[in-house]
Amino acid sequence: MRTYLLLATAVLAVNAHAADPHSYAETDKFVVRHVAIDLRTDFEAHRLEGTAELTVEQVDPAADRLALDTRDLEVGSVQLVEASGRAKALAYKLAEPDPILGSKLTIEFPHCCAATSQMKIRIAYRTSNEASALQWLEPAQTYGSKPYLYSQGQAIHTRSWIPLQDTPSVRVTYEARIRTPPDLVAVMSAARLVGQDAPGEFHFAMKQPIPSYLIALAVGDLKFQAVGDRTGVWTEPARLEAAAHEFADLPRMLEAGERMVGPYRWDRYDLLIMPRAFAYGGMENPRLSFISPSTVAGDRSLVAVIVHEMSHSWSGNLVTNSTWDDFWLNEGFTSYLERRLVEVLYGERRASMEDAIAYEELVQTIKDLAADGHPEDSALHLNLAGRDPNEGTSDVAYQKGRWFLGFLEGRFGRGKFDAFLREYFDEHAFQSIDTATFRAWLLEYLKRPGAPAVTAAEIDAWLYQSGLPPTMPKVAQGVFAPVDEAAAAWRAGRIATDELPVKDWIPQEWVRFLDEQPADLEDAKLEDLRSTFRLGADGNAEIALSWLELVIRTGYEPAYTDLERFLLETGRWRLVETLFREMSRTAEGRALGERIYAKAKPGYHRSIRDAVERLLRPAATAAATQ
Ligand SMILES: [Zn+2]
Repeated sequence: MRTYLLLATAVLAVNAHAADPHSYAETDKFVVRHVAIDLRTDFEAHRLEGTAELTVEQVDPAADRLALDTRDLEVGSVQLVEASGRAKALAYKLAEPDPILGSKLTIEFPHCCAATSQMKIRIAYRTSNEASALQWLEPAQTYGSKPYLYSQGQAIHTRSWIPLQDTPSVRVTYEARIRTPPDLVAVMSAARLVGQDAPGEFHFAMKQPIPSYLIALAVGDLKFQAVGDRTGVWTEPARLEAAAHEFADLPRMLEAGERMVGPYRWDRYDLLIMPRAFAYGGMENPRLSFISPSTVAGDRSLVAVIVHEMSHSWSGNLVTNSTWDDFWLNEGFTSYLERRLVEVLYGERRASMEDAIAYEELVQTIKDLAADGHPEDSALHLNLAGRDPNEGTSDVAYQKGRWFLGFLEGRFGRGKFDAFLREYFDEHAFQSIDTATFRAWLLEYLKRPGAPAVTAAEIDAWLYQSGLPPTMPKVAQGVFAPVDEAAAAWRAGRIATDELPVKDWIPQEWVRFLDEQPADLEDAKLEDLRSTFRLGADGNAEIALSWLELVIRTGYEPAYTDLERFLLETGRWRLVETLFREMSRTAEGRALGERIYAKAKPGYHRSIRDAVERLLRPAATAAATQ
């Protein structure tokens, strides 16, 4: 029933441009245009402290209160900075926190001062040592001997380190001065103003307007190596050579992206390869993607993550979802571009293997969402009001979004669809849009002479209905037939373990082989696999993940120590979440999960702790396994 109710409201909302349910910003009154931060990093207290100066444009002349988003900030003062440089104290009120949205900061303007159309507001503050955007790592959690700090703004965490309008519907330019301990280096999702740097002091400027969740900072023992003229790699010294080798294809990737969807508009494209405790596969911070070290496989086999983050330079960073309900506009387009670029760069065979794997994952996600009581979350357009957006978003935005565009490509034909994409990015560059805007634009485009026949009902089935629509493109599974045949022969005892044709397998084929093994596979076979191919916690992270999922599925106790080590060494959300989800499916698994989690918890990001604790909660998981 819930599905249908939500569907009805979604369809009614098609032509409305809803306000962002995850922000206190009242953008019909004021809009923040520029943010200047001046912050000192305190590695002892795990806090940032300093000022944020917001350039605010008054939209409604009668408005006399500016509402900002904050979370766990200690605000010291709020001032109006006049053109002369003179500062005047303003009255403000920090409301009681909402568990999801944080605290609304309301700033009052006396009538004398609200008359100018642009104002500068300076807020002095410090962050909590539990700020949700910030993860402070001990040296033991890095590849070196120094501490590390990074921020993760998506979805609604920037407000925990900068007071601002924390909604993707507002775009800002920004500048920053960051003061660090003298032996550490700061990097941001912005241009470095190199001439102004001094030991322990770094200056940045982002001149293109971006949504607040893309303001990003990392501080650590960081070194840089160029890989081409406008691309390069930042990381800790011990990892620099391996990372630069792994991502030698960066210039070629960027050129392939430009050929497909138009110019790269952010000047430089660098990678920051993160410490192990980094919670994500990658985060598309503009000019500087933050990347999990688990992608440095040694054999360049996991570069699809880089292709994905780079593709966000168009979808997400250039054209942005204006609320988190429209998340698929970021991730579906990006996953589509990723698929196309993997094909250009690494060939059709590898691309169709990734298709087949992604399709099975999507089908599983849709089942899991239904079992978790949220079948409506498998529609592309979401309704996340009242929920943490990080909880309601899933594979669906990525893979169902990608196949929606694949469906359109099928109707347009590839050449015409590429022209459509280029025009979409050109026309919406540096804008934030919602699903209704995209839908209206697509329907207009389809009226052009020579455009293919696609009905509004077909489009709406993708956007607003749960599950997979009848127009879902067929995903060929045949690419794995040789692996599946070898697996069947091996299980039946017709070939021995060391006769498996693994010599030419790429990691995607290993993943397939392991994922297809049944829960009742005998211990002797598992032991054979483990010793013959040295499967464990090391090496290619995707193969290790599939192996450890199999270990949990079969209850193969001798490999539990590898499972534990893997979960202690990585902090990457998808790897951690996948394994704890697998453990949550049985009572024995949950007991094992609780034992491992007790040790691993201190190294995990706060948001991952929440996710794991939800999975291990007995009542919820019991319902989910029905
Ligand atoms: Zn993405």
